[in-house]
Amino acid sequence: MTEKSLGELLELFDNAVGVSGYEGEAAQVLFAEARGLYDDYLEDAIGNQVYHIKGKSGGEAKTKSLLVAAHIDELGFMVSVIEESGLLRFFPIGFHDERLIINQELAVHTKNGVVCGVTGTKPPHLAKNDELTTFIPVHDMFIDIGVSSKEEAAKLGVAPGDIVSFARRGHFLNGTCVYSGKSVDNRAGLAVMIEVMRRLKKENSNTIDLYMVGTVQEEYGCRGALPVANRIKPDIAIVLDVSIAGDIPCIDFQAAPVKMGAGACIKFYESTFGSPLGMAVPQKLSSALIRIAEENNIPYQHDFMLGGITDGSTINFAAYGILCGGISFPSRYIHSAVGLVRLDDMRACADLLVAYIKSL
Ligand SMILES: [Zn+2]
Repeated sequence: MTEKSLGELLELFDNAVGVSGYEGEAAQVLFAEARGLYDDYLEDAIGNQVYHIKGKSGGEAKTKSLLVAAHIDELGFMVSVIEESGLLRFFPIGFHDERLIINQELAVHTKNGVVCGVTGTKPPHLAKNDELTTFIPVHDMFIDIGVSSKEEAAKLGVAPGDIVSFARRGHFLNGTCVYSGKSVDNRAGLAVMIEVMRRLKKENSNTIDLYMVGTVQEEYGCRGALPVANRIKPDIAIVLDVSIAGDIPCIDFQAAPVKMGAGACIKFYESTFGSPLGMAVPQKLSSALIRIAEENNIPYQHDFMLGGITDGSTINFAAYGILCGGISFPSRYIHSAVGLVRLDDMRACADLLVAYIKSL
């Protein structure tokens, strides 16, 4: 069997389903792709996937340990009520932009398999007053699965508690290296993680204790990463995730100063409104990553994420405090069904992480 390319990995991971708290299918894909690339494997009680690659120091001394975290989960929804009419009421899981949920195709994951549905609303012809200029909250939406009664919905297997995901199939745009998909945040991170594991395996020169971790429940409070970091207590942690690309007309670039196609984003700082979580990356780590990028001619950018957080925001205060930083690839339209990433940025992230691991 020929090895999948980075692009093929991205497509495979993006099209798997793994809504926060229900990461099973995406975690299975990760397990299959990680085969043969690690020494020990552990799945913890909440579903974090830990792949341990032992350091080959050859001596008695404890080698350095590094945790690399990439979250498995994606934004999604859950069915709450099936109405007598057969329409489904639902609520969001994770930080959605509610403007972007209307007129979407959704997949309802029932005990009998996937049921297709759409979200819709009244046509513009019937809109009143300011309805055409205001967004519709999820609370007022419903999923139409084509049936006419609660009983018909139940016959299809639909039940309250069913997970719902965006149904859009991702793809590369017009022969470019730009990929658009429902969960590039953060399946692109998982693809980079597998790429790094492959390269380390091929070179067989790793001297540190590496824990490559697919984390769960990042999209609502970065919850999965904390217990796994407490368990492993690594010396250093690096988070692989998206960063917000500020290179589109509606964004003031200084609010998100990274561009697609300009290389790996080296994290300095991240914070988000209304949350006590965040991360100020210790300078010794961000400057080490910059030095390594420059020494290896890897394109990089300075990353200050001022409207979002990653698993680093909980890992940095795990155990007795962990030296934690981030390597990211810029992404447009994050937290929507059409997020974009570029393969060349992802490759730069893999190059930088491999070079950093070798430097430890
Ligand atoms: Zn993410």
